[in-house]
Amino acid sequence: MAFLEEYKAHIAERETLGVPPLPLSAEQTVELIKLIKSECTQELLDLLTNRVSPGVDDAAYVKAAFLNDVVLGNTKVSAISPEKAVEMLGMMLGGYNVKPLVDALTSENEAVVEAAKEALKHTLLVYDAFNDVEELHKSGNKAATEVMTSWANAEWFTSKPELSDAITVTVFKVAGETNTDDLSPASEAFTRSDIPLHANSMLVAKMDDPINTIKKLKEMGNPIAYVGDVVGTGSSRKSGVNSVQWHMGEDIPGVPNKRTGGVVLGGIIAPIFFATCEDSGALPLELDVSEMETGDVVTIYPYKGEAHKDGKCIATFKLNPNTITDEVRAGGRIPLIIGRGLTAKARGVLGLGTTDIFLTPEQPEDNGKGYTLAQKMVGRACGMEGVKPGMYVEPVTSTVGSQDTTGPMTRDEIVELAALGFGADLVMQSFCHTAAYPKPSDVEMHHTLPDFISKRSGVALRPGDGVIHSWLNRMVLPDTVGTGADSHTRFPIGISFPGGSGIVAFAGVTGSMPLTMPESVLVRFSGELQPGITLRDLVNAIPYQAIKEGLLTVEKKGKKNIFAGRILEIEGLPDLKAEQAFELSDASAERSAAACTVLLNEDPVIEYLKSNIVLLNSMIEAGYEDKRTLQRRIDKMNEWLANPSLMKPDADAEYAAVINIDLNTITEPILACPNDPDDVATLTEVLADPKRPHIINEVFVGSCMTNIGHYRALGEVLKGEGAVPTRLWICPPTKMDEKQLTEEGYYSIFGTSGARTEIPGCSLCMGNQARVADNAVVFSTSTRNFDNRLGKGAKVYLGSAELAAVCAMLGYLPTKEEYLNIVPKKIGGKEADIYKYLNFNLIKDYKL
Ligand code: SF4
Repeated sequence: MAFLEEYKAHIAERETLGVPPLPLSAEQTVELIKLIKSECTQELLDLLTNRVSPGVDDAAYVKAAFLNDVVLGNTKVSAISPEKAVEMLGMMLGGYNVKPLVDALTSENEAVVEAAKEALKHTLLVYDAFNDVEELHKSGNKAATEVMTSWANAEWFTSKPELSDAITVTVFKVAGETNTDDLSPASEAFTRSDIPLHANSMLVAKMDDPINTIKKLKEMGNPIAYVGDVVGTGSSRKSGVNSVQWHMGEDIPGVPNKRTGGVVLGGIIAPIFFATCEDSGALPLELDVSEMETGDVVTIYPYKGEAHKDGKCIATFKLNPNTITDEVRAGGRIPLIIGRGLTAKARGVLGLGTTDIFLTPEQPEDNGKGYTLAQKMVGRACGMEGVKPGMYVEPVTSTVGSQDTTGPMTRDEIVELAALGFGADLVMQSFCHTAAYPKPSDVEMHHTLPDFISKRSGVALRPGDGVIHSWLNRMVLPDTVGTGADSHTRFPIGISFPGGSGIVAFAGVTGSMPLTMPESVLVRFSGELQPGITLRDLVNAIPYQAIKEGLLTVEKKGKKNIFAGRILEIEGLPDLKAEQAFELSDASAERSAAACTVLLNEDPVIEYLKSNIVLLNSMIEAGYEDKRTLQRRIDKMNEWLANPSLMKPDADAEYAAVINIDLNTITEPILACPNDPDDVATLTEVLADPKRPHIINEVFVGSCMTNIGHYRALGEVLKGEGAVPTRLWICPPTKMDEKQLTEEGYYSIFGTSGARTEIPGCSLCMGNQARVADNAVVFSTSTRNFDNRLGKGAKVYLGSAELAAVCAMLGYLPTKEEYLNIVPKKIGGKEADIYKYLNFNLIKDYKL
């Protein structure tokens, strides 16, 4: 009974944390089955039924094998009849349970056949086993025909209750803006795949006692709705939705430690968060929440589009997308897409036409105008000339990225999708967020996740290799579509629509993703870049100009943001190198844009691909897996290089807004001020504001916003200046940059300056590893400066590496004149050597 005693102790320990026990591991499931075979009590049966994760989890394999033995009569257990075993297999959603269920259709035991039929009718994740059912149907097996007919009639869907026409909820309101870091703090990233435990950290840094507040609200008897003015900005972490659903959703029978459903009401809901809610079976609604306060009882009428309090209508809304009621009914957008596909296939086998059981996505009327660059790229991925805004499509996702703090969740989603292979052409996993200072759970993940990914034909990087995007961008094919569970997955060539780990798992497994095409905003640069002005200043010039034109506001209440949920399309800098273009596209995440394109000429893309082919070849030589996937990508790059041609937008393409920025008017650095990436100001404006801090305590040069040129520029500014008065952190994005900078002598300069150099990766940017001192004033080159991200109470400016170097040297923000005296003098004339990118094809006998 050692297993049971240990597990009971584990239950007691978890109870003290207010969470259920972890699902059973494969080893524990083996032990449990031994006990069941000797004496099957209800307690043991409950454990087997409800505490083993479904899909292709190792424990699911053990459970399915045991139950199959019971079905076949090879094992006899008094409390589990063969038909009961089939029923239990039927709760495992897909994966290892499917073959035993299909085999059971041919059993001589009528009760087993009956149970298998019922189980399969409601199983969606059947993949290739569909063909086995089809064969049985064609050979005259009546049960198989019944299953096929049920799939064709979508009984898996129609047997579920429709979304109620009145939903009464108790409001839990978080005023102002909630970002995903508030919901799922980076500092607790290591618990993300333990959904209940991670949910304990939801909002704890933002408000007093949120978890007990929710508990008390639940005592009122209604489901709780999450309500906020602006909900879910920031990174694409599904763990934010997982935590909301854990507190406000419903259990899923047979699936331990995960919930579905829940209502999220927001004045604005960030697009990725909205989509993640849809994928997970929650009901997200955008409406005026000003009349809702914590503890209010509100009734939502989804079909009428009204919210009522005390019998009065307090807000109206439109269901968006129009298919959302089907999504909620199916348990989420992902099960709906998979189920619709299964129904369509079954109808094909039975010779039936299309069905009107499902709502069809509303499609916009064609206005006869041309296409933007993004619309053409997505069009090609759908086999069309272009895709207009508002159109629902499922583009092919050629490149899919997964990083390490969301990787375990993506892995769990892949397991739940019961997938043993990837359908996407290239899936890549990085370890950049946890490599430097891993926790024990990270070390375990470093050991197990690479194998999980490469066994399914994905490419696994190694801890210490560096930041996901600096690698993934080098694997992208021009003008193609992709996604990633890191909100900064924004290709400099092609287009990426980042998503939560659910959609990333789906895109990886199926090779396509659901997308309602967003509108585009065009930013058009003209003029000449002025001395001392950097690309990072142009990144900040975009919100600066949008604020001037009234298209963006800093104030959260009633916030305006023209970029939110739209595609940022950038023109006017066609000769940028791909590394530089990424600085612009990367920062589109801070604009809350859904995606970004940068219009480039062929030359920089040809240069980039030639270099990337050498890098990918060196990965194969260095033993990176999966070799075949890497080789396939090399072949496709060579194919493109044989006839290089890039898409261009049509001249009459339409945009939601066009923002023109004249480079001649940008004559000093532009910074994002503490603690909001939208709160941008010129150096002079910052210094003229006594409320803004001017002394700088710490400087961070790192993150995916940087490339090798930034570190050379930093080194050139620091050269000959001795130790700096600030705490200076330096973290190059990849090990290739680190090696090259060391060879060029820049690490010696960094050492003399007293800098703390970190192993390549995300470092301070993620804030889950090393941290700046409490309440420090920081100048950082990283992506975002949300409260507490880099350190508790830190006030963080965001800007260029060149300005970071000056701040590090002086210990305060320089005046425009000081800056322009230092930077052009130290860098001037050496630009060609400083801003030279890593062209691996030009390095003799390059090896990783
Ligand atoms: S460097 Fe920062 S923004 Fe970039 S991937 Fe890492 S944590 Fe995300």
